[in-house]
Amino acid sequence: MVGVDLLDLDSSLTEEERQIRAVVRRVVDERVRPHVAGWYEAGEVPARELAREFGALGLLGMHLTGYGCAGSTAVAYGLACLELEAGDSGVRSLVSVQGSLAMYAIWRYGSEEQKQRWLPAMATGEAIGCFGLTEPDHGSDPGSMTTRARRDGDDWILHGTKMWITNAPIADVAVIWARTDEGVRGFAVPMDTPGVTAREIGRKMSLRASVTGEIALDDVRLPADARLPEAIGLKAPLGCLTEARHGIVWGALGAARDCLETALTYATTRTQFGRPLAGFQLTQAKLADMAVEWHKGYLLALHLGRLADAGRLRPEQVSVGKLNNVREALAIARECRTILGANGVSGDYPVMRHANNLESVLTYEGTSEIHQLVIGQRLTGVSAFT
Ligand SMILES: Cc1cc2nc3c(=O)[nH]c(=O)nc-3n(C[C@H](O)[C@H](O)[C@H](O)COP(=O)(O)OP(=O)(O)OC[C@H]3O[C@@H](n4cnc5c(N)ncnc54)[C@H](O)[C@@H]3O)c2cc1C
Repeated sequence: MVGVDLLDLDSSLTEEERQIRAVVRRVVDERVRPHVAGWYEAGEVPARELAREFGALGLLGMHLTGYGCAGSTAVAYGLACLELEAGDSGVRSLVSVQGSLAMYAIWRYGSEEQKQRWLPAMATGEAIGCFGLTEPDHGSDPGSMTTRARRDGDDWILHGTKMWITNAPIADVAVIWARTDEGVRGFAVPMDTPGVTAREIGRKMSLRASVTGEIALDDVRLPADARLPEAIGLKAPLGCLTEARHGIVWGALGAARDCLETALTYATTRTQFGRPLAGFQLTQAKLADMAVEWHKGYLLALHLGRLADAGRLRPEQVSVGKLNNVREALAIARECRTILGANGVSGDYPVMRHANNLESVLTYEGTSEIHQLVIGQRLTGVSAFT
């Protein structure tokens, strides 16, 4: 909770959920916090090492069942995302993309052979996955994708480019979405297949403790069994995004919590005009408003998590959570930065790093505008996408 658990939110968690949260909080304190400012500054993160450590704790694909996955509740997974993102949004992205996008796609749409081949190794972190939907010219509108998959005898030939793909430069397998004569289909593509190249995207000012890349597919020949048999149409990748967005609804609260806790500590220790910043009414108004928003966001996340565990979570409900919680988390990060004054822009404190990261979180997995359109369509019955 944020400094003080204003609403006694802990009482709505089970003992097991609290224990999982404590384990993830400890690993973040030990393995992420001491190093993350340096990773961020250098734009380098030991992602493979972290993946193996998170895998050993059962965090990769933790809400999936079988194939070495932990089979936890959606709420427990959400709490894990919150704790990871309290460390850094990039570190949470590593876990989200692995579990909710790449592993989920294979788990939900793959053949038994594909599941056996990839999921146990991905659950331990021995194999890294990525999820290639976005293209250089097609982001919010993936239905216009130009990456093509065509039949050549029994084989498939893939051609195109995927852009802004988390984990791509370190991945062993990419779930690639491509247009075929029958519509959009998904493929599990080993990254060492001839014709596949991944280039790291540099000069990012956000999510610097996360590896992001471009994947070029140059007439990549794949056997028939590389296609995910149950992935039919654009609704398949969108189903994966619903999974991952649920984790973000929780995760963003972690970044916001870390900012709030930092600002609270700072405000009680920094003195101006002869008294701690926390003693000024304007500072208290900021802290109170942020704490209220944070607690509202948490209640929303918990409600959506419980709906997911009941098997009743709908995509537009996830849009409500993603839109609100990322937007509010970013607002909290920016407000906390003001409380830290000049120190707010320093890498010695985590606040500006979180704020910069949340700019990416606001954009990926559906921008705020796209979620507004999803909610608007549900409210009005009218699609305003085009
Ligand atoms: C760090 C990072 C990691 C990422 N990781 C992945 C990944 O692992 N896999 C993957 O597939 N993608 C990934 N993405 C890509 C991300 O999902 C896209 O950036 C996102 O979907 C937006 O697409 P775009 O950047 O092309 O923006 P555009 O679609 O070009 O949108 C630009 C602006 O126009 C607005 N806009 C677009 N359409 C409309 C409309 N109809 N009405 C109103 N406004 C509109 C948008 O909201 C946005 O504000 C990542 C992005 C980042 C930054």
